[in-house]
Amino acid sequence: MLSNNDYTVSITENQDTVNTVETIRANLKKQTSKKTDSLKLSNSFHRLGYHKKANRVYWCATDWIYKIYSDGEILLHDVNFCRERLCPMCAARRSLKVFKQVSDVMDIVDCTYNDLVPVFLTLTLKNCHANSIDLSKTLDLIYDGWFRMTHHRKIQRVVKGWFRALEVTFNTENSTFHPHIHAILLVDKEYFTGKDFMFTSDWVKLWRSSLRIDYDPVCDIRKISNERYHSVSEVSKYTVKSSDYIFEDEYFMDLIVENLGQALKSRRLYAFGGVMKSIAKEIGLDDKDIAEGDLVNIENFEVREDISYVLKVFRWNMGLSEYVEIDEKNVYTEQN
Ligand SMILES: [Zn+2]
Repeated sequence: MLSNNDYTVSITENQDTVNTVETIRANLKKQTSKKTDSLKLSNSFHRLGYHKKANRVYWCATDWIYKIYSDGEILLHDVNFCRERLCPMCAARRSLKVFKQVSDVMDIVDCTYNDLVPVFLTLTLKNCHANSIDLSKTLDLIYDGWFRMTHHRKIQRVVKGWFRALEVTFNTENSTFHPHIHAILLVDKEYFTGKDFMFTSDWVKLWRSSLRIDYDPVCDIRKISNERYHSVSEVSKYTVKSSDYIFEDEYFMDLIVENLGQALKSRRLYAFGGVMKSIAKEIGLDDKDIAEGDLVNIENFEVREDISYVLKVFRWNMGLSEYVEIDEKNVYTEQN
């Protein structure tokens, strides 16, 4: 059975090795388009003169090493991710990691804070021109607005915890960027019936004053009930989808890659606040590290020292444009 993480596979004990390898192959097949997009990004970085970056992305995730335990369990052991912000391969992995971390925090909220209810908030503002200066200024505006809003007296009283993520989409029709925030907020049960309840129009007013702008920005607020999986997916999805910067037109692609890269440099893409921040800290999630740290061991599996395993290595074949098992690298390890 596949877990929510595409790369870690659990299989039944009596499945044979052939099936095991087939399962890994099927998972790696899903990575092919991301690897191909990473190579296109690498070419763009070369054209832009960022040769070191280009090389890192070129060699990203060429080797996937799996541990296959004698009881049939398969764990991802190591992958050489490049960690570049715009790398499609790393972005997908980062998104899974964020999904896992937010889900873990939400599970604890469910168990220990019965009086808190999650709501899903989207905050937008007008699109900006597709250049790095305009995008940078708009991101500054959003981040400052978010800071002011979360420090507003009413929000401090109403919102007990939050997680926010930045998303930037690109509109090809008029060549504009659309940066916006997705957030999960935890509010008291009483919020929905009490005097502090805020209609969408109240959120618009508050977001407008927090941004210090002279128009009403589009905001959306909704209660998360049965669609929690969907809401957590929304906040943990990619900051920028690769389809918004990987284009056939090289000149156009390089322009967008350059501007996105400059504007997103050193930005904190995801953050926890309030109760959610405390829980994240308690369970050992490093808030600052959420999108930047270890991209391999994101499930926090226990180290199994009592059981032998085989390492299987799958390597990207540049000619075939697919992952191929490297037989001679298989290592059998008997543990004590
Ligand atoms: Zn990468």
